[in-house]
Amino acid sequence: MVTDVSVLVRRIAEVGQAHPSLPNLRAVEPFAHYFGADGYLQRTHLDARDGAGTRREILTRFLLLNAVLDQGPDIIGLRQMLIEVTSHLYRREVRFLHKPVAFFQEIGLSIDHILAAHESVRQVRAEIWARENQSNASRYNLFMDNSRQVLGYAVFRWGVPLALPYLLQKDALKRNPGEEPSPTLLLDYLEDFDSAEQMAVAVKSHERYGLGKAIGNKAAHLFAKWLVSGFALTRRGDTAWGRLSYEVPYDSNAGRVLWRTGYLLHWATEKTYQRKTVLQPGRGKGGTTYLRVTNIRGMGAERPINAHLQAIYREICLEHLKTHRKAPQKVEIQRIQHAYLAESDFSVADFDDGLIYVGTRFCLNHAQPRCEVCPLRNMCAGYNDNTSLITEYRT
Ligand code: SF4
Repeated sequence: MVTDVSVLVRRIAEVGQAHPSLPNLRAVEPFAHYFGADGYLQRTHLDARDGAGTRREILTRFLLLNAVLDQGPDIIGLRQMLIEVTSHLYRREVRFLHKPVAFFQEIGLSIDHILAAHESVRQVRAEIWARENQSNASRYNLFMDNSRQVLGYAVFRWGVPLALPYLLQKDALKRNPGEEPSPTLLLDYLEDFDSAEQMAVAVKSHERYGLGKAIGNKAAHLFAKWLVSGFALTRRGDTAWGRLSYEVPYDSNAGRVLWRTGYLLHWATEKTYQRKTVLQPGRGKGGTTYLRVTNIRGMGAERPINAHLQAIYREICLEHLKTHRKAPQKVEIQRIQHAYLAESDFSVADFDDGLIYVGTRFCLNHAQPRCEVCPLRNMCAGYNDNTSLITEYRT
């Protein structure tokens, strides 16, 4: 059992603050002039025009695309591929972030550059990825869903997020014919939602503008995290667009760390997780139990929290996430860390970055993670008390 949840949550956030997981925007050629000689994003110039949009808008479009693509198996490789494709297409004057339709008008070039970048990244990353994941380098594939078809990947995963600002532009022109559309079309749409959490949900599910299956729930929240905290591109300064205004984008890396440290078992029993199909016995690699952390969404905690934390939790739901109009009836496991973070200066992004850092570098998805050098080892139940939390479960 984890001894002190509050200490664990803070430690994870502390690790994340020291090791943020952010796309390297500076390496993307069309953004090079957005950065000063000191290497930092020139924040005072974010609202400067860059063609049809402001810098803030163009970066937001890129981050939405990046969040969609980030759902694949090797984040380092995916981000490198996106940097290469974007830089190469802009060199050929295919300015697809400024003019999304250019990606489709030049679909031949777009596909050529995706294929070329995929191959160059594969040559560098396949062996490393295979070693870290105890897999075979020949299985390295960034096209998602394990598909080999570049057309489907390009049109679905690249095309859908690029089509959103294009559709917003078309709708704006229809509403106000002859008027130049706003240079912050996408941001205007996103920031119209009451909270970053509501925006993240709508990015996937809105009837007209939602990306649907092109984006996962985790990726939609990753996008919110970058927009609000990672790059602080949002112009909204209120609580509902602040450091606690969106859910943690739980993914398999996060789930593995939260399971092995004993955090998840603190809130519900193994039996309950099985009933909710978060744990699926026998379905993991080598007959282990498969942990499907995305099934935790909406699941209530069995262990009660004290009145003080309960009050903070209520405020999180009503004022930060804005998911409730009245006090929530249950305390959701996926949101409890918000109450602990509210008592600190850390953000949801820090907590998530800590999970990513530990999950991808130490807490690997096999039976011999790097516990001896893991920054959470002093408080990890799997390492200190119960090694079966490590050996008997896979994500
Ligand atoms: S100590 Fe080991 S099991 Fe625990 S979080 Fe770190 S790597 Fe994972």
